[in-house]
Amino acid sequence: MSDSSFDSLPLAPELLANLDSLGYHAMTPIQAESLPLMLAGRDVIARAKTGSGKTAAFGLGLLSRLSVTTFRVQALVLCPTRELADQVAGEIRRLARTLPNVKVLALCGGAPFGPQLASLAHGAHVVVGTPGRVEEHLRKGSLTLAALETLVLDEADRMLDMGFQASMEAIVAETPASRQTWLFSATYTDGIKPIAEGLMREPATVEIAEVH
Ligand code: ADP
Ligand code: MG
Repeated sequence: MSDSSFDSLPLAPELLANLDSLGYHAMTPIQAESLPLMLAGRDVIARAKTGSGKTAAFGLGLLSRLSVTTFRVQALVLCPTRELADQVAGEIRRLARTLPNVKVLALCGGAPFGPQLASLAHGAHVVVGTPGRVEEHLRKGSLTLAALETLVLDEADRMLDMGFQASMEAIVAETPASRQTWLFSATYTDGIKPIAEGLMREPATVEIAEVH
């Protein structure tokens, strides 16, 4: 068993203090299994049921890798829907609230383009978005991923079900090969396996089995 205290991780003291104030006193099982791997620089495929704290797992992982002195997009989280992307952006902002000046931007389809262009012009460290809209910004040149360190595919299985495979691949093609890639999902289907393997380097797989 892993130690379930966040203090056992090499996280910044500001992050640890904030977790306590958020009421996150112990890691959930998926956090305890996946965070040490992410912090050690591994690519990770993580599967655990809905509501198990996957957002904070990858959120803490990507925040630990950020350098706020470089005002470029260093982390990208792709989500299947606008609602999920907004939730994930909100959770990452809450996790980051004690880190000075971290800018988290949501780029979702269905929202007007103008404000997104204005926000991108100001710069961001973390982008959370839906694949179609992120791809559109890349095509227009309003977003560049040349400095990307971390790519997260959240609910990757649902993104495939929704027909986002081509967009996901077009986005990945714009990211540096040196990135870390993390795939979080409630189900890990045969459809996602070959895609994940193509995107990742020797991924570690962590799975939290459901207790019946
Ligand atoms: P998932 O993505 O696995 O469906 P979420 O990331 O949405 O789950 O998390 C579910 C809920 O658990 C959220 O309300 C979140 O704030 C809470 N949560 C996450 N990690 C912890 C923790 N370590 N301790 C307490 N609550 C947590
Ligand atoms: Mg989730």
